[in-house]
Amino acid sequence: MIQMENVTKQYANGVTAIKDVNLEIQDGEFVYVIGPSGAGKSTLVKMLYHELMPTSGTIKIDSFDFSTMKPAEVPFLRRHIGIVFQDFKLLPRLTVYENVAYAMQVIEAPDAEIKDRVLEVLGLVGLEQKLRRFPDELSGGEQQRVSVARAIVNKPKVLIADEPTGNLDPQTSDEIVDILERINANSTTVIMATHNKDIVNERQHRLLEIAGGRLVRDEEGGTYGNEE
Ligand code: ADP
Ligand code: ADP
Repeated sequence: MIQMENVTKQYANGVTAIKDVNLEIQDGEFVYVIGPSGAGKSTLVKMLYHELMPTSGTIKIDSFDFSTMKPAEVPFLRRHIGIVFQDFKLLPRLTVYENVAYAMQVIEAPDAEIKDRVLEVLGLVGLEQKLRRFPDELSGGEQQRVSVARAIVNKPKVLIADEPTGNLDPQTSDEIVDILERINANSTTVIMATHNKDIVNERQHRLLEIAGGRLVRDEEGGTYGNEE
């Protein structure tokens, strides 16, 4: 389970990007974090993956309590959470296969497990034919599929995606969300920050809406209007 209690984040320049947010996400949920640009979505999800610490309040993910966690525990948290970024963040000099395998090598997985698992996740995202390609030889949608494969290769309990369709056309975006839904059906909690209204409205899941740094709506199967 994921819990945020009274979480506030103020940046050094004085901007309070998240204000007193309380929320709970159960294992296996699919949750959108929505809101206009500048609302605080990215700040919220960065706190969930421990990239940013809150100014006040507490964050817990399963057995990890961020307020008492020691630096030595961060690598274990990183195995527990997979992350997908808007801009893919693939390693340009590594092939598709190597980008995904690298995520297992850094946690010192046994070599014998790496190959089978990498081929398995690349199959799951439909890239088994492109193992030897480099990122710049792939479309944006394919690069994002590599980054999803990399995020799940170590079997995280939680997958966090920050605007994963932000650089993709509508059809490719749909394909990426299909994959996220399949991963979720496999009992991984998925948290997706997005301002893609078409996706949110067509594939309804729990919505957490952020506006001006506050959680202003928490609705199962909610839709995202065009009132902005
Ligand atoms: P969103 O992801 O919804 O677009 P962000 O979390 O990126 O929103 O930003 C929320 C607010 O925090 C905005 O006002 C933004 O300008 C500010 N902000 C984001 N990152 C920083 C930073 N590193 N330093 C100062 N202010 C920031
Ligand atoms: P092949 O005969 O097609 O190379 P393999 O069973 O040896 O078949 O490997 C399947 C794919 O996995 C290969 O296409 C290769 O790209 C990739 N692969 C296997 N091991 C590695 C590795 N250590 N580094 C990079 N890619 C690898």
